[in-house]
Amino acid sequence: MSYAISGECCSDASCVAVCPMNSIHPSPGEPGFGTGASLFIDPRTCIDCGACADICPVDAAQPADRSAVEDVQRNAAYFAEQEPLDAMDLDSWGEPSYELWGGGPRRVLVVGAGPAGMYATRELLLRTSAEVTLVDRLEHVGGLVRYGVAPDHPSTKQIIRTFERIVRHDRVRWLPGTDAGELPDEFDAVVHAVGARRSRRLGIVGEEAARTAEEFVAWYNGRPGAPVPADLAGPRAVVVGNGNVALDLARILLSDEQRLRSMQVPAAVRDVLAASGVKEVVLLGRRGPEEAAYTQSALQELLATVGDRVELRYHARPTSWTPEGLTLDDGTTIAAGNLFTAIGFEGQPIDGLPFDPDRGIVPNVRGAVVGRPGHYVAGWIKHGARGGIGVNKACAQETVMTLVSSSRALVSPGS
Ligand SMILES: Cc1cc2nc3c(=O)[nH]c(=O)nc-3n(C[C@H](O)[C@H](O)[C@H](O)COP(=O)(O)OP(=O)(O)OC[C@H]3O[C@@H](n4cnc5c(N)ncnc54)[C@H](O)[C@@H]3O)c2cc1C
Ligand code: SF4
Ligand code: SF4
Repeated sequence: MSYAISGECCSDASCVAVCPMNSIHPSPGEPGFGTGASLFIDPRTCIDCGACADICPVDAAQPADRSAVEDVQRNAAYFAEQEPLDAMDLDSWGEPSYELWGGGPRRVLVVGAGPAGMYATRELLLRTSAEVTLVDRLEHVGGLVRYGVAPDHPSTKQIIRTFERIVRHDRVRWLPGTDAGELPDEFDAVVHAVGARRSRRLGIVGEEAARTAEEFVAWYNGRPGAPVPADLAGPRAVVVGNGNVALDLARILLSDEQRLRSMQVPAAVRDVLAASGVKEVVLLGRRGPEEAAYTQSALQELLATVGDRVELRYHARPTSWTPEGLTLDDGTTIAAGNLFTAIGFEGQPIDGLPFDPDRGIVPNVRGAVVGRPGHYVAGWIKHGARGGIGVNKACAQETVMTLVSSSRALVSPGS
């Protein structure tokens, strides 16, 4: 599936800035932009991330299966005679379009090779003559796109190939498997794009026996070192949470062997899931359906995939977890063999930087860390654990814009 833009579009191009795949055209600077006509989405490159729909002020961008047939056809027809445009064609990048720094190459450290770090790196390459050192604790680029996005959404994971091209640029020094704290060097600026991977806690009795979304999602995506779930006892599991991640968990838990075979998951993961006793899932939301954080298309996908094996319960507040199941504040207990929590993620403090524990972010002004000149943040550690891949593109652009227009002094990763 892809997204499509309808005739309601007023061409303000907000969506172009957040599209991680450069799928929306004509973009500013291209022939036809600004003529008043609609913009169009290339169905061959769209990864279905929904960022355009989130930002569109007039709801003109929508999933293709919820768009009128003629809108889908109009979008496809616009690109019919053209080759798909690469999201990040490094070979065709020209000279930097502006160089506020002058005086030769400068050294910038980007910590984290998730979407925010990759977009920050791309922006630095485009806008400055800086040499970029990019580090990630993990051995591969992608962050949560590789180890978070569900394995039955392979088109979304396509963007990893685009990120892999950025690290091959000759002004990028890519150091996989490196923690920022290990670097002795000094830099003109550090962009911290470390994400917000830690699962939020429910704060109920018995919670330590629950599997958090962080662990479970990392495990089914094959992240090295992710803990293997001990026993997927059935027949019922409860997933607490009402966002798209909770829906991902339910879909994966209820996938049969045939469906699992169509996914890019490690063989050991497939074996555990195929042998799982979980046959039904209760999805528990604290608020009502109208306030649920999942998108309608994610809910439709879940219902189409697992049918009546999922029960949606709203206005339910858990109080304790025991071997009998999950007890709610109305005194009832849902008998279940497993509890999963998917109630959001939060950032963790970074050595040497201020931290806002309530919001789980590093306090910043347009990406510049408050009170720490030379330090910048991008992505979930900057704006909180909300929003899809595309949001991090506009966010990283803002951070790099702030960086190039700020005064600098030499800084080290933890200074
Ligand atoms: C389970 C899940 C599913 C999702 N599915 C979708 C989806 O289908 N579509 C969509 O659009 N969005 C999805 N999202 C949202 C999307 O993944 C995020 O918007 C995005 O990954 C946030 O980017 P980030 O770069 O801020 O953080 P991350 O992706 O978390 O990247 C941070 C990187 O920093 C590295 N790092 C952390 N600390 C250090 C350190 N000290 N030194 C070195 N490296 C470090 C980490 O290893 C990681 O690679 C999903 C999110 C989750 C949690
Ligand atoms: S954000 Fe909406 S109105 Fe604006 S250009 Fe994109 S589709 Fe059109
Ligand atoms: S923002 Fe996402 S959904 Fe929209 S066109 Fe780009 S890739 Fe497709």
